[in-house]
Amino acid sequence: MKFPAVIHFQLTSQCNNRCRHCFGPDKNILDMKTEELEKIFKLLSLGGVKNILLTGGEPLMRDDFDVAVKIIKKYDLGIFLDTNGDLFFNHEKIISNNVDVLGLPIDFPKTSYRNPQNFKTVIKILDFYKNKHSSSPKLRILTTVTKENIDKLFDIGELIKSYPIDLWKLIQFLPLRGNALKNKKRLEISQLEFNKSTQSMNKAFKKIFKIISVGREDRNKAYFFIQSNGEVFISVDTGKKCYNQIIGHIFDRGIEERWHKLALLSKYKKSIRDFEELLNRNLCTF
Ligand code: SF4
Repeated sequence: MKFPAVIHFQLTSQCNNRCRHCFGPDKNILDMKTEELEKIFKLLSLGGVKNILLTGGEPLMRDDFDVAVKIIKKYDLGIFLDTNGDLFFNHEKIISNNVDVLGLPIDFPKTSYRNPQNFKTVIKILDFYKNKHSSSPKLRILTTVTKENIDKLFDIGELIKSYPIDLWKLIQFLPLRGNALKNKKRLEISQLEFNKSTQSMNKAFKKIFKIISVGREDRNKAYFFIQSNGEVFISVDTGKKCYNQIIGHIFDRGIEERWHKLALLSKYKKSIRDFEELLNRNLCTF
């Protein structure tokens, strides 16, 4: 059995921020060494994977980030990179020359959940690509929609429409773990509120860039995630409770079959829409 064409890879559990809406990985999870990463990318490439989404934590926190990117390219895999952007200019060349789609966060029209400088840095990156004429990745903006920014979405759309954005992804806040769970009351929005707001953003901006929304229910058993220590998990949401279910290690024999047994195919197909839209390619092989 094959792996799915798109894998979400948490390159590191470390992050330089402590956002109040974060449901990222536990920072005690150990990161794999470069040699282990190489084995994994080779395995995935041979197993039918086409694209890897590098996420974290913050992927640019890894000292060997540039090396990891080169290894992924060696195995002819497409790279989506989701970063908070703070360390972008330390890696600009490798990103501009190798990353296919760069994901950057915008939480508010003038500030950020990350740190006081982050908003300005993300705008600086967008300005950089607006003025750059040689090779650039496609750009997608990521906004986690919370009770605090749900009424600011229109202003965010107005802000980003002057940049070369290919896609705006709106993600419903998920009180999964860590800070996100602690701040559930303060940040949680209902599915209905989320749907309404994303529909109006679609109406307002769909002629300018593509818009994809990911509601809480869309995440249920939809993704193939690899943690930074090599464990594979699937995100489960019962409606009352959401959690990450570890299903084994990436080097386990038959791990892809275990995933296929648990995953919901219709949700998986929906989860790769933005990859397909951005690459103009059908990626679902089952
Ligand atoms: S939301 Fe992103 S930037 Fe913020 S702490 Fe979590 S991983 Fe780091």
